[in-house]
Amino acid sequence: MKTDVGREEKEVFAAYLVKNHLKRSEQREVILDTFLRSERHLSVDDLLQLVQKRRPDIGRTTVYRTLKLLQSAGLAQELVLQGQTRFEREYKRQHHDHFICKSCGEIFEFSSAEIERIQDEIAADIGFVIDGHRHQIFGYCRDCAADAKARPEARR
Ligand SMILES: [Zn+2]
Ligand SMILES: [Zn+2]
Repeated sequence: MKTDVGREEKEVFAAYLVKNHLKRSEQREVILDTFLRSERHLSVDDLLQLVQKRRPDIGRTTVYRTLKLLQSAGLAQELVLQGQTRFEREYKRQHHDHFICKSCGEIFEFSSAEIERIQDEIAADIGFVIDGHRHQIFGYCRDCAADAKARPEARR
């Protein structure tokens, strides 16, 4: 295992805990480290499962609370994708949007300067001040689309 994963994020989190008079705990460190290594869009239960491979004694509540702390510290972003709350790395990441496969749940990231530019133009036209946005595009990934083609009756 690489030991220097997310060193900067770990420093940010340590500083956040100090600033908010929260104690630094080994459990929180394991949760953060696991989160940073996964590079994915994790539900609380996804992260819990990964964390428990390393530390079976860490419970769901601790994982959830730590994720909320990471969010407050600017290290994690919460996303609600198809009704499920997920978290992804946030720190110093470029803005991006998501494609979500309705069949297998796979999530693909994309970013397009052109889409961003067009929406800025449309907003400017109506004097709308954009404060943020999230595009979630639903459909079927390549594998699931191929499956559905092979079994047309299975397609909803
Ligand atoms: Zn799929
Ligand atoms: Zn993402």
